[in-house]
Amino acid sequence: MAISGTREGLISLYRRLAPVMRTERKLYLLGIFFTFLSIGTTLAFPQVIRIIVDDAILGDRLSIITPLAFLMACLLIIESYSISKFFQLFGRAARRNVEALRLQLVEHLVEQETAFFDRESSSKLMARLMGDVGQVNSLLAGLIPSAIQQFFFFVVGTGLVIYTSPPLALVIVVFLPPIGYGASKLGERGRKAAHDLQNSESLVAQAALETLASIRTVRAYARERFEVKRFGGFIDASIQNAQRGIKASARVQGFARLSGEAAVVVGIWAGGQLIIAGYLTAGALVSFILYAGLVARATRNLSEFSAEALRIHGTTEMIFSYLDRETKMPLRGGLRPESVEGRIEFENVSFHYGEDDGSVDHPHGLQSINLRIERGEEIAIVGPSGSGKSTLVQLVIRFYDPDSGVVRLDGVDLQELDPSWVREQMTYVSQDSSLFSRTLEENLQYSGDDATDEDVAKAVDLVGATSLIASQPEGYQTEVGDQGARLSGGQRQRIALARALIAQPAVLILDEATSALDSESESGIKESLRNLEFSPTVIWIAHRLSTVIDVDRILVVDRGRIVADGCHAELLRTSANYRELVETQLVGE
Ligand code: ADP
Repeated sequence: MAISGTREGLISLYRRLAPVMRTERKLYLLGIFFTFLSIGTTLAFPQVIRIIVDDAILGDRLSIITPLAFLMACLLIIESYSISKFFQLFGRAARRNVEALRLQLVEHLVEQETAFFDRESSSKLMARLMGDVGQVNSLLAGLIPSAIQQFFFFVVGTGLVIYTSPPLALVIVVFLPPIGYGASKLGERGRKAAHDLQNSESLVAQAALETLASIRTVRAYARERFEVKRFGGFIDASIQNAQRGIKASARVQGFARLSGEAAVVVGIWAGGQLIIAGYLTAGALVSFILYAGLVARATRNLSEFSAEALRIHGTTEMIFSYLDRETKMPLRGGLRPESVEGRIEFENVSFHYGEDDGSVDHPHGLQSINLRIERGEEIAIVGPSGSGKSTLVQLVIRFYDPDSGVVRLDGVDLQELDPSWVREQMTYVSQDSSLFSRTLEENLQYSGDDATDEDVAKAVDLVGATSLIASQPEGYQTEVGDQGARLSGGQRQRIALARALIAQPAVLILDEATSALDSESESGIKESLRNLEFSPTVIWIAHRLSTVIDVDRILVVDRGRIVADGCHAELLRTSANYRELVETQLVGE
């Protein structure tokens, strides 16, 4: 059971790593060439010692000791050079493989659909990307080269043990099966502990990342001690799991040492008997013991290797399961029309968050949405918090697909259009649109359209951010800090808006995107948007009455449904929901 579990684990690890390693096969093969060289020299050593004992010392030809010592020195030099070359080549190849794996993982993660990121926290993904991928490095650069070396020592050493003295080899062989069985039994226990340890370690990493990423919230509530204590809790669990793992691996080590060395002791005793009986020379016994020691060490190292490799296999399985995961919404593929108008339709659209496994009743989302927004229209969506406003616009930009019904852009089902093309035509600015920890210019030019300096300056002017940029120490080249932390909330929103305008979208979605600005600034921006040369369709999710009062149309959303649709004056007359909103939430000034 234990042995087959080990074998399956190693085979599955091999299947995962072989394609990764293949890309650097030249370096690995060259490394293996050097390992052969070093193994050759290591194995030649006992032969030289045998000649020294039998021919030089016992055969009374002491004059050959000097050339033999010189030969040994040469062997040593070749061996040390080959070993260092071998580890260097494997180390280099491993580093390349690991960085390629990281790149592949990031490439794959950014392709996943939005809903994936609702489930997987970014701190967890970070822990996988840095910690777990790092483990692959220690496997490729350290463990695998050692295992290859030990494997050859084992095979060739065993051959030489048999060649040196078959009867003595037979005595040792009797010891091997119990050693193997005992080691694999103990290894099995260690593996389970290692798996638990990995889980608790990733919780530790996650907890630390989360606390540090939200340090402002932690500080604002003076919860530093609480966070440290919480972190300590995860550490405790990790220590407990580690202790089980350490105990198991320590037992493997002790057992392997005992059994390996016992075989050598038995060899010495039995060898002595053979010398007395005249079947073995003293030199042959010395070289036999040296070879047997090599084989014992190799057996021990290989069993340690398999335990460690299986532990890493457990930790890295998650990386590969991410790599195996097919995105539910590929970023590319589909129609890319030549031009776009910006007409949006919803036909009987229903949607809920989460996996559609039928196990949970999801009350959130949208129900039977029918809607038509004309090209260049300016509409506002209002409704109580949690009523589904953001969800509605996130279906427009296809962050999610509806469960049923169709969303269309210019009359074409969004699901038939190339998603990246769709997102080139539309821009979504949310209330907390994060800025990147890069320069203002890099943030503004984020759409990648290579807008000219004038276009950028114009957009900056439209959102009233010209003086903001002028006041920055290095103008456009000023770094904005983590998520734009060096700017105020309002300044961040202005930059996010300018970034959206630079992209010149056909549909501009503003999800409370001006919430941190005063109403005067917001009116100024609204006026600017109406005079844009590219006249986009504008959808406002509004929190202020002044935003909605003069738009073309207002949609009132309540509990996932559109309950009213019309201009301000009409809705005041016809919609009780709207009147209520006007009296409460919308009158925020
Ligand atoms: P609004 O924008 O009107 O405040 P939302 O569209 O953000 O409302 O949310 C509608 C409902 O969907 C809420 O009940 C909210 O809890 C839920 N919801 C929003 N985003 C998610 C998400 N990513 N995963 C699961 N539920 C969500």
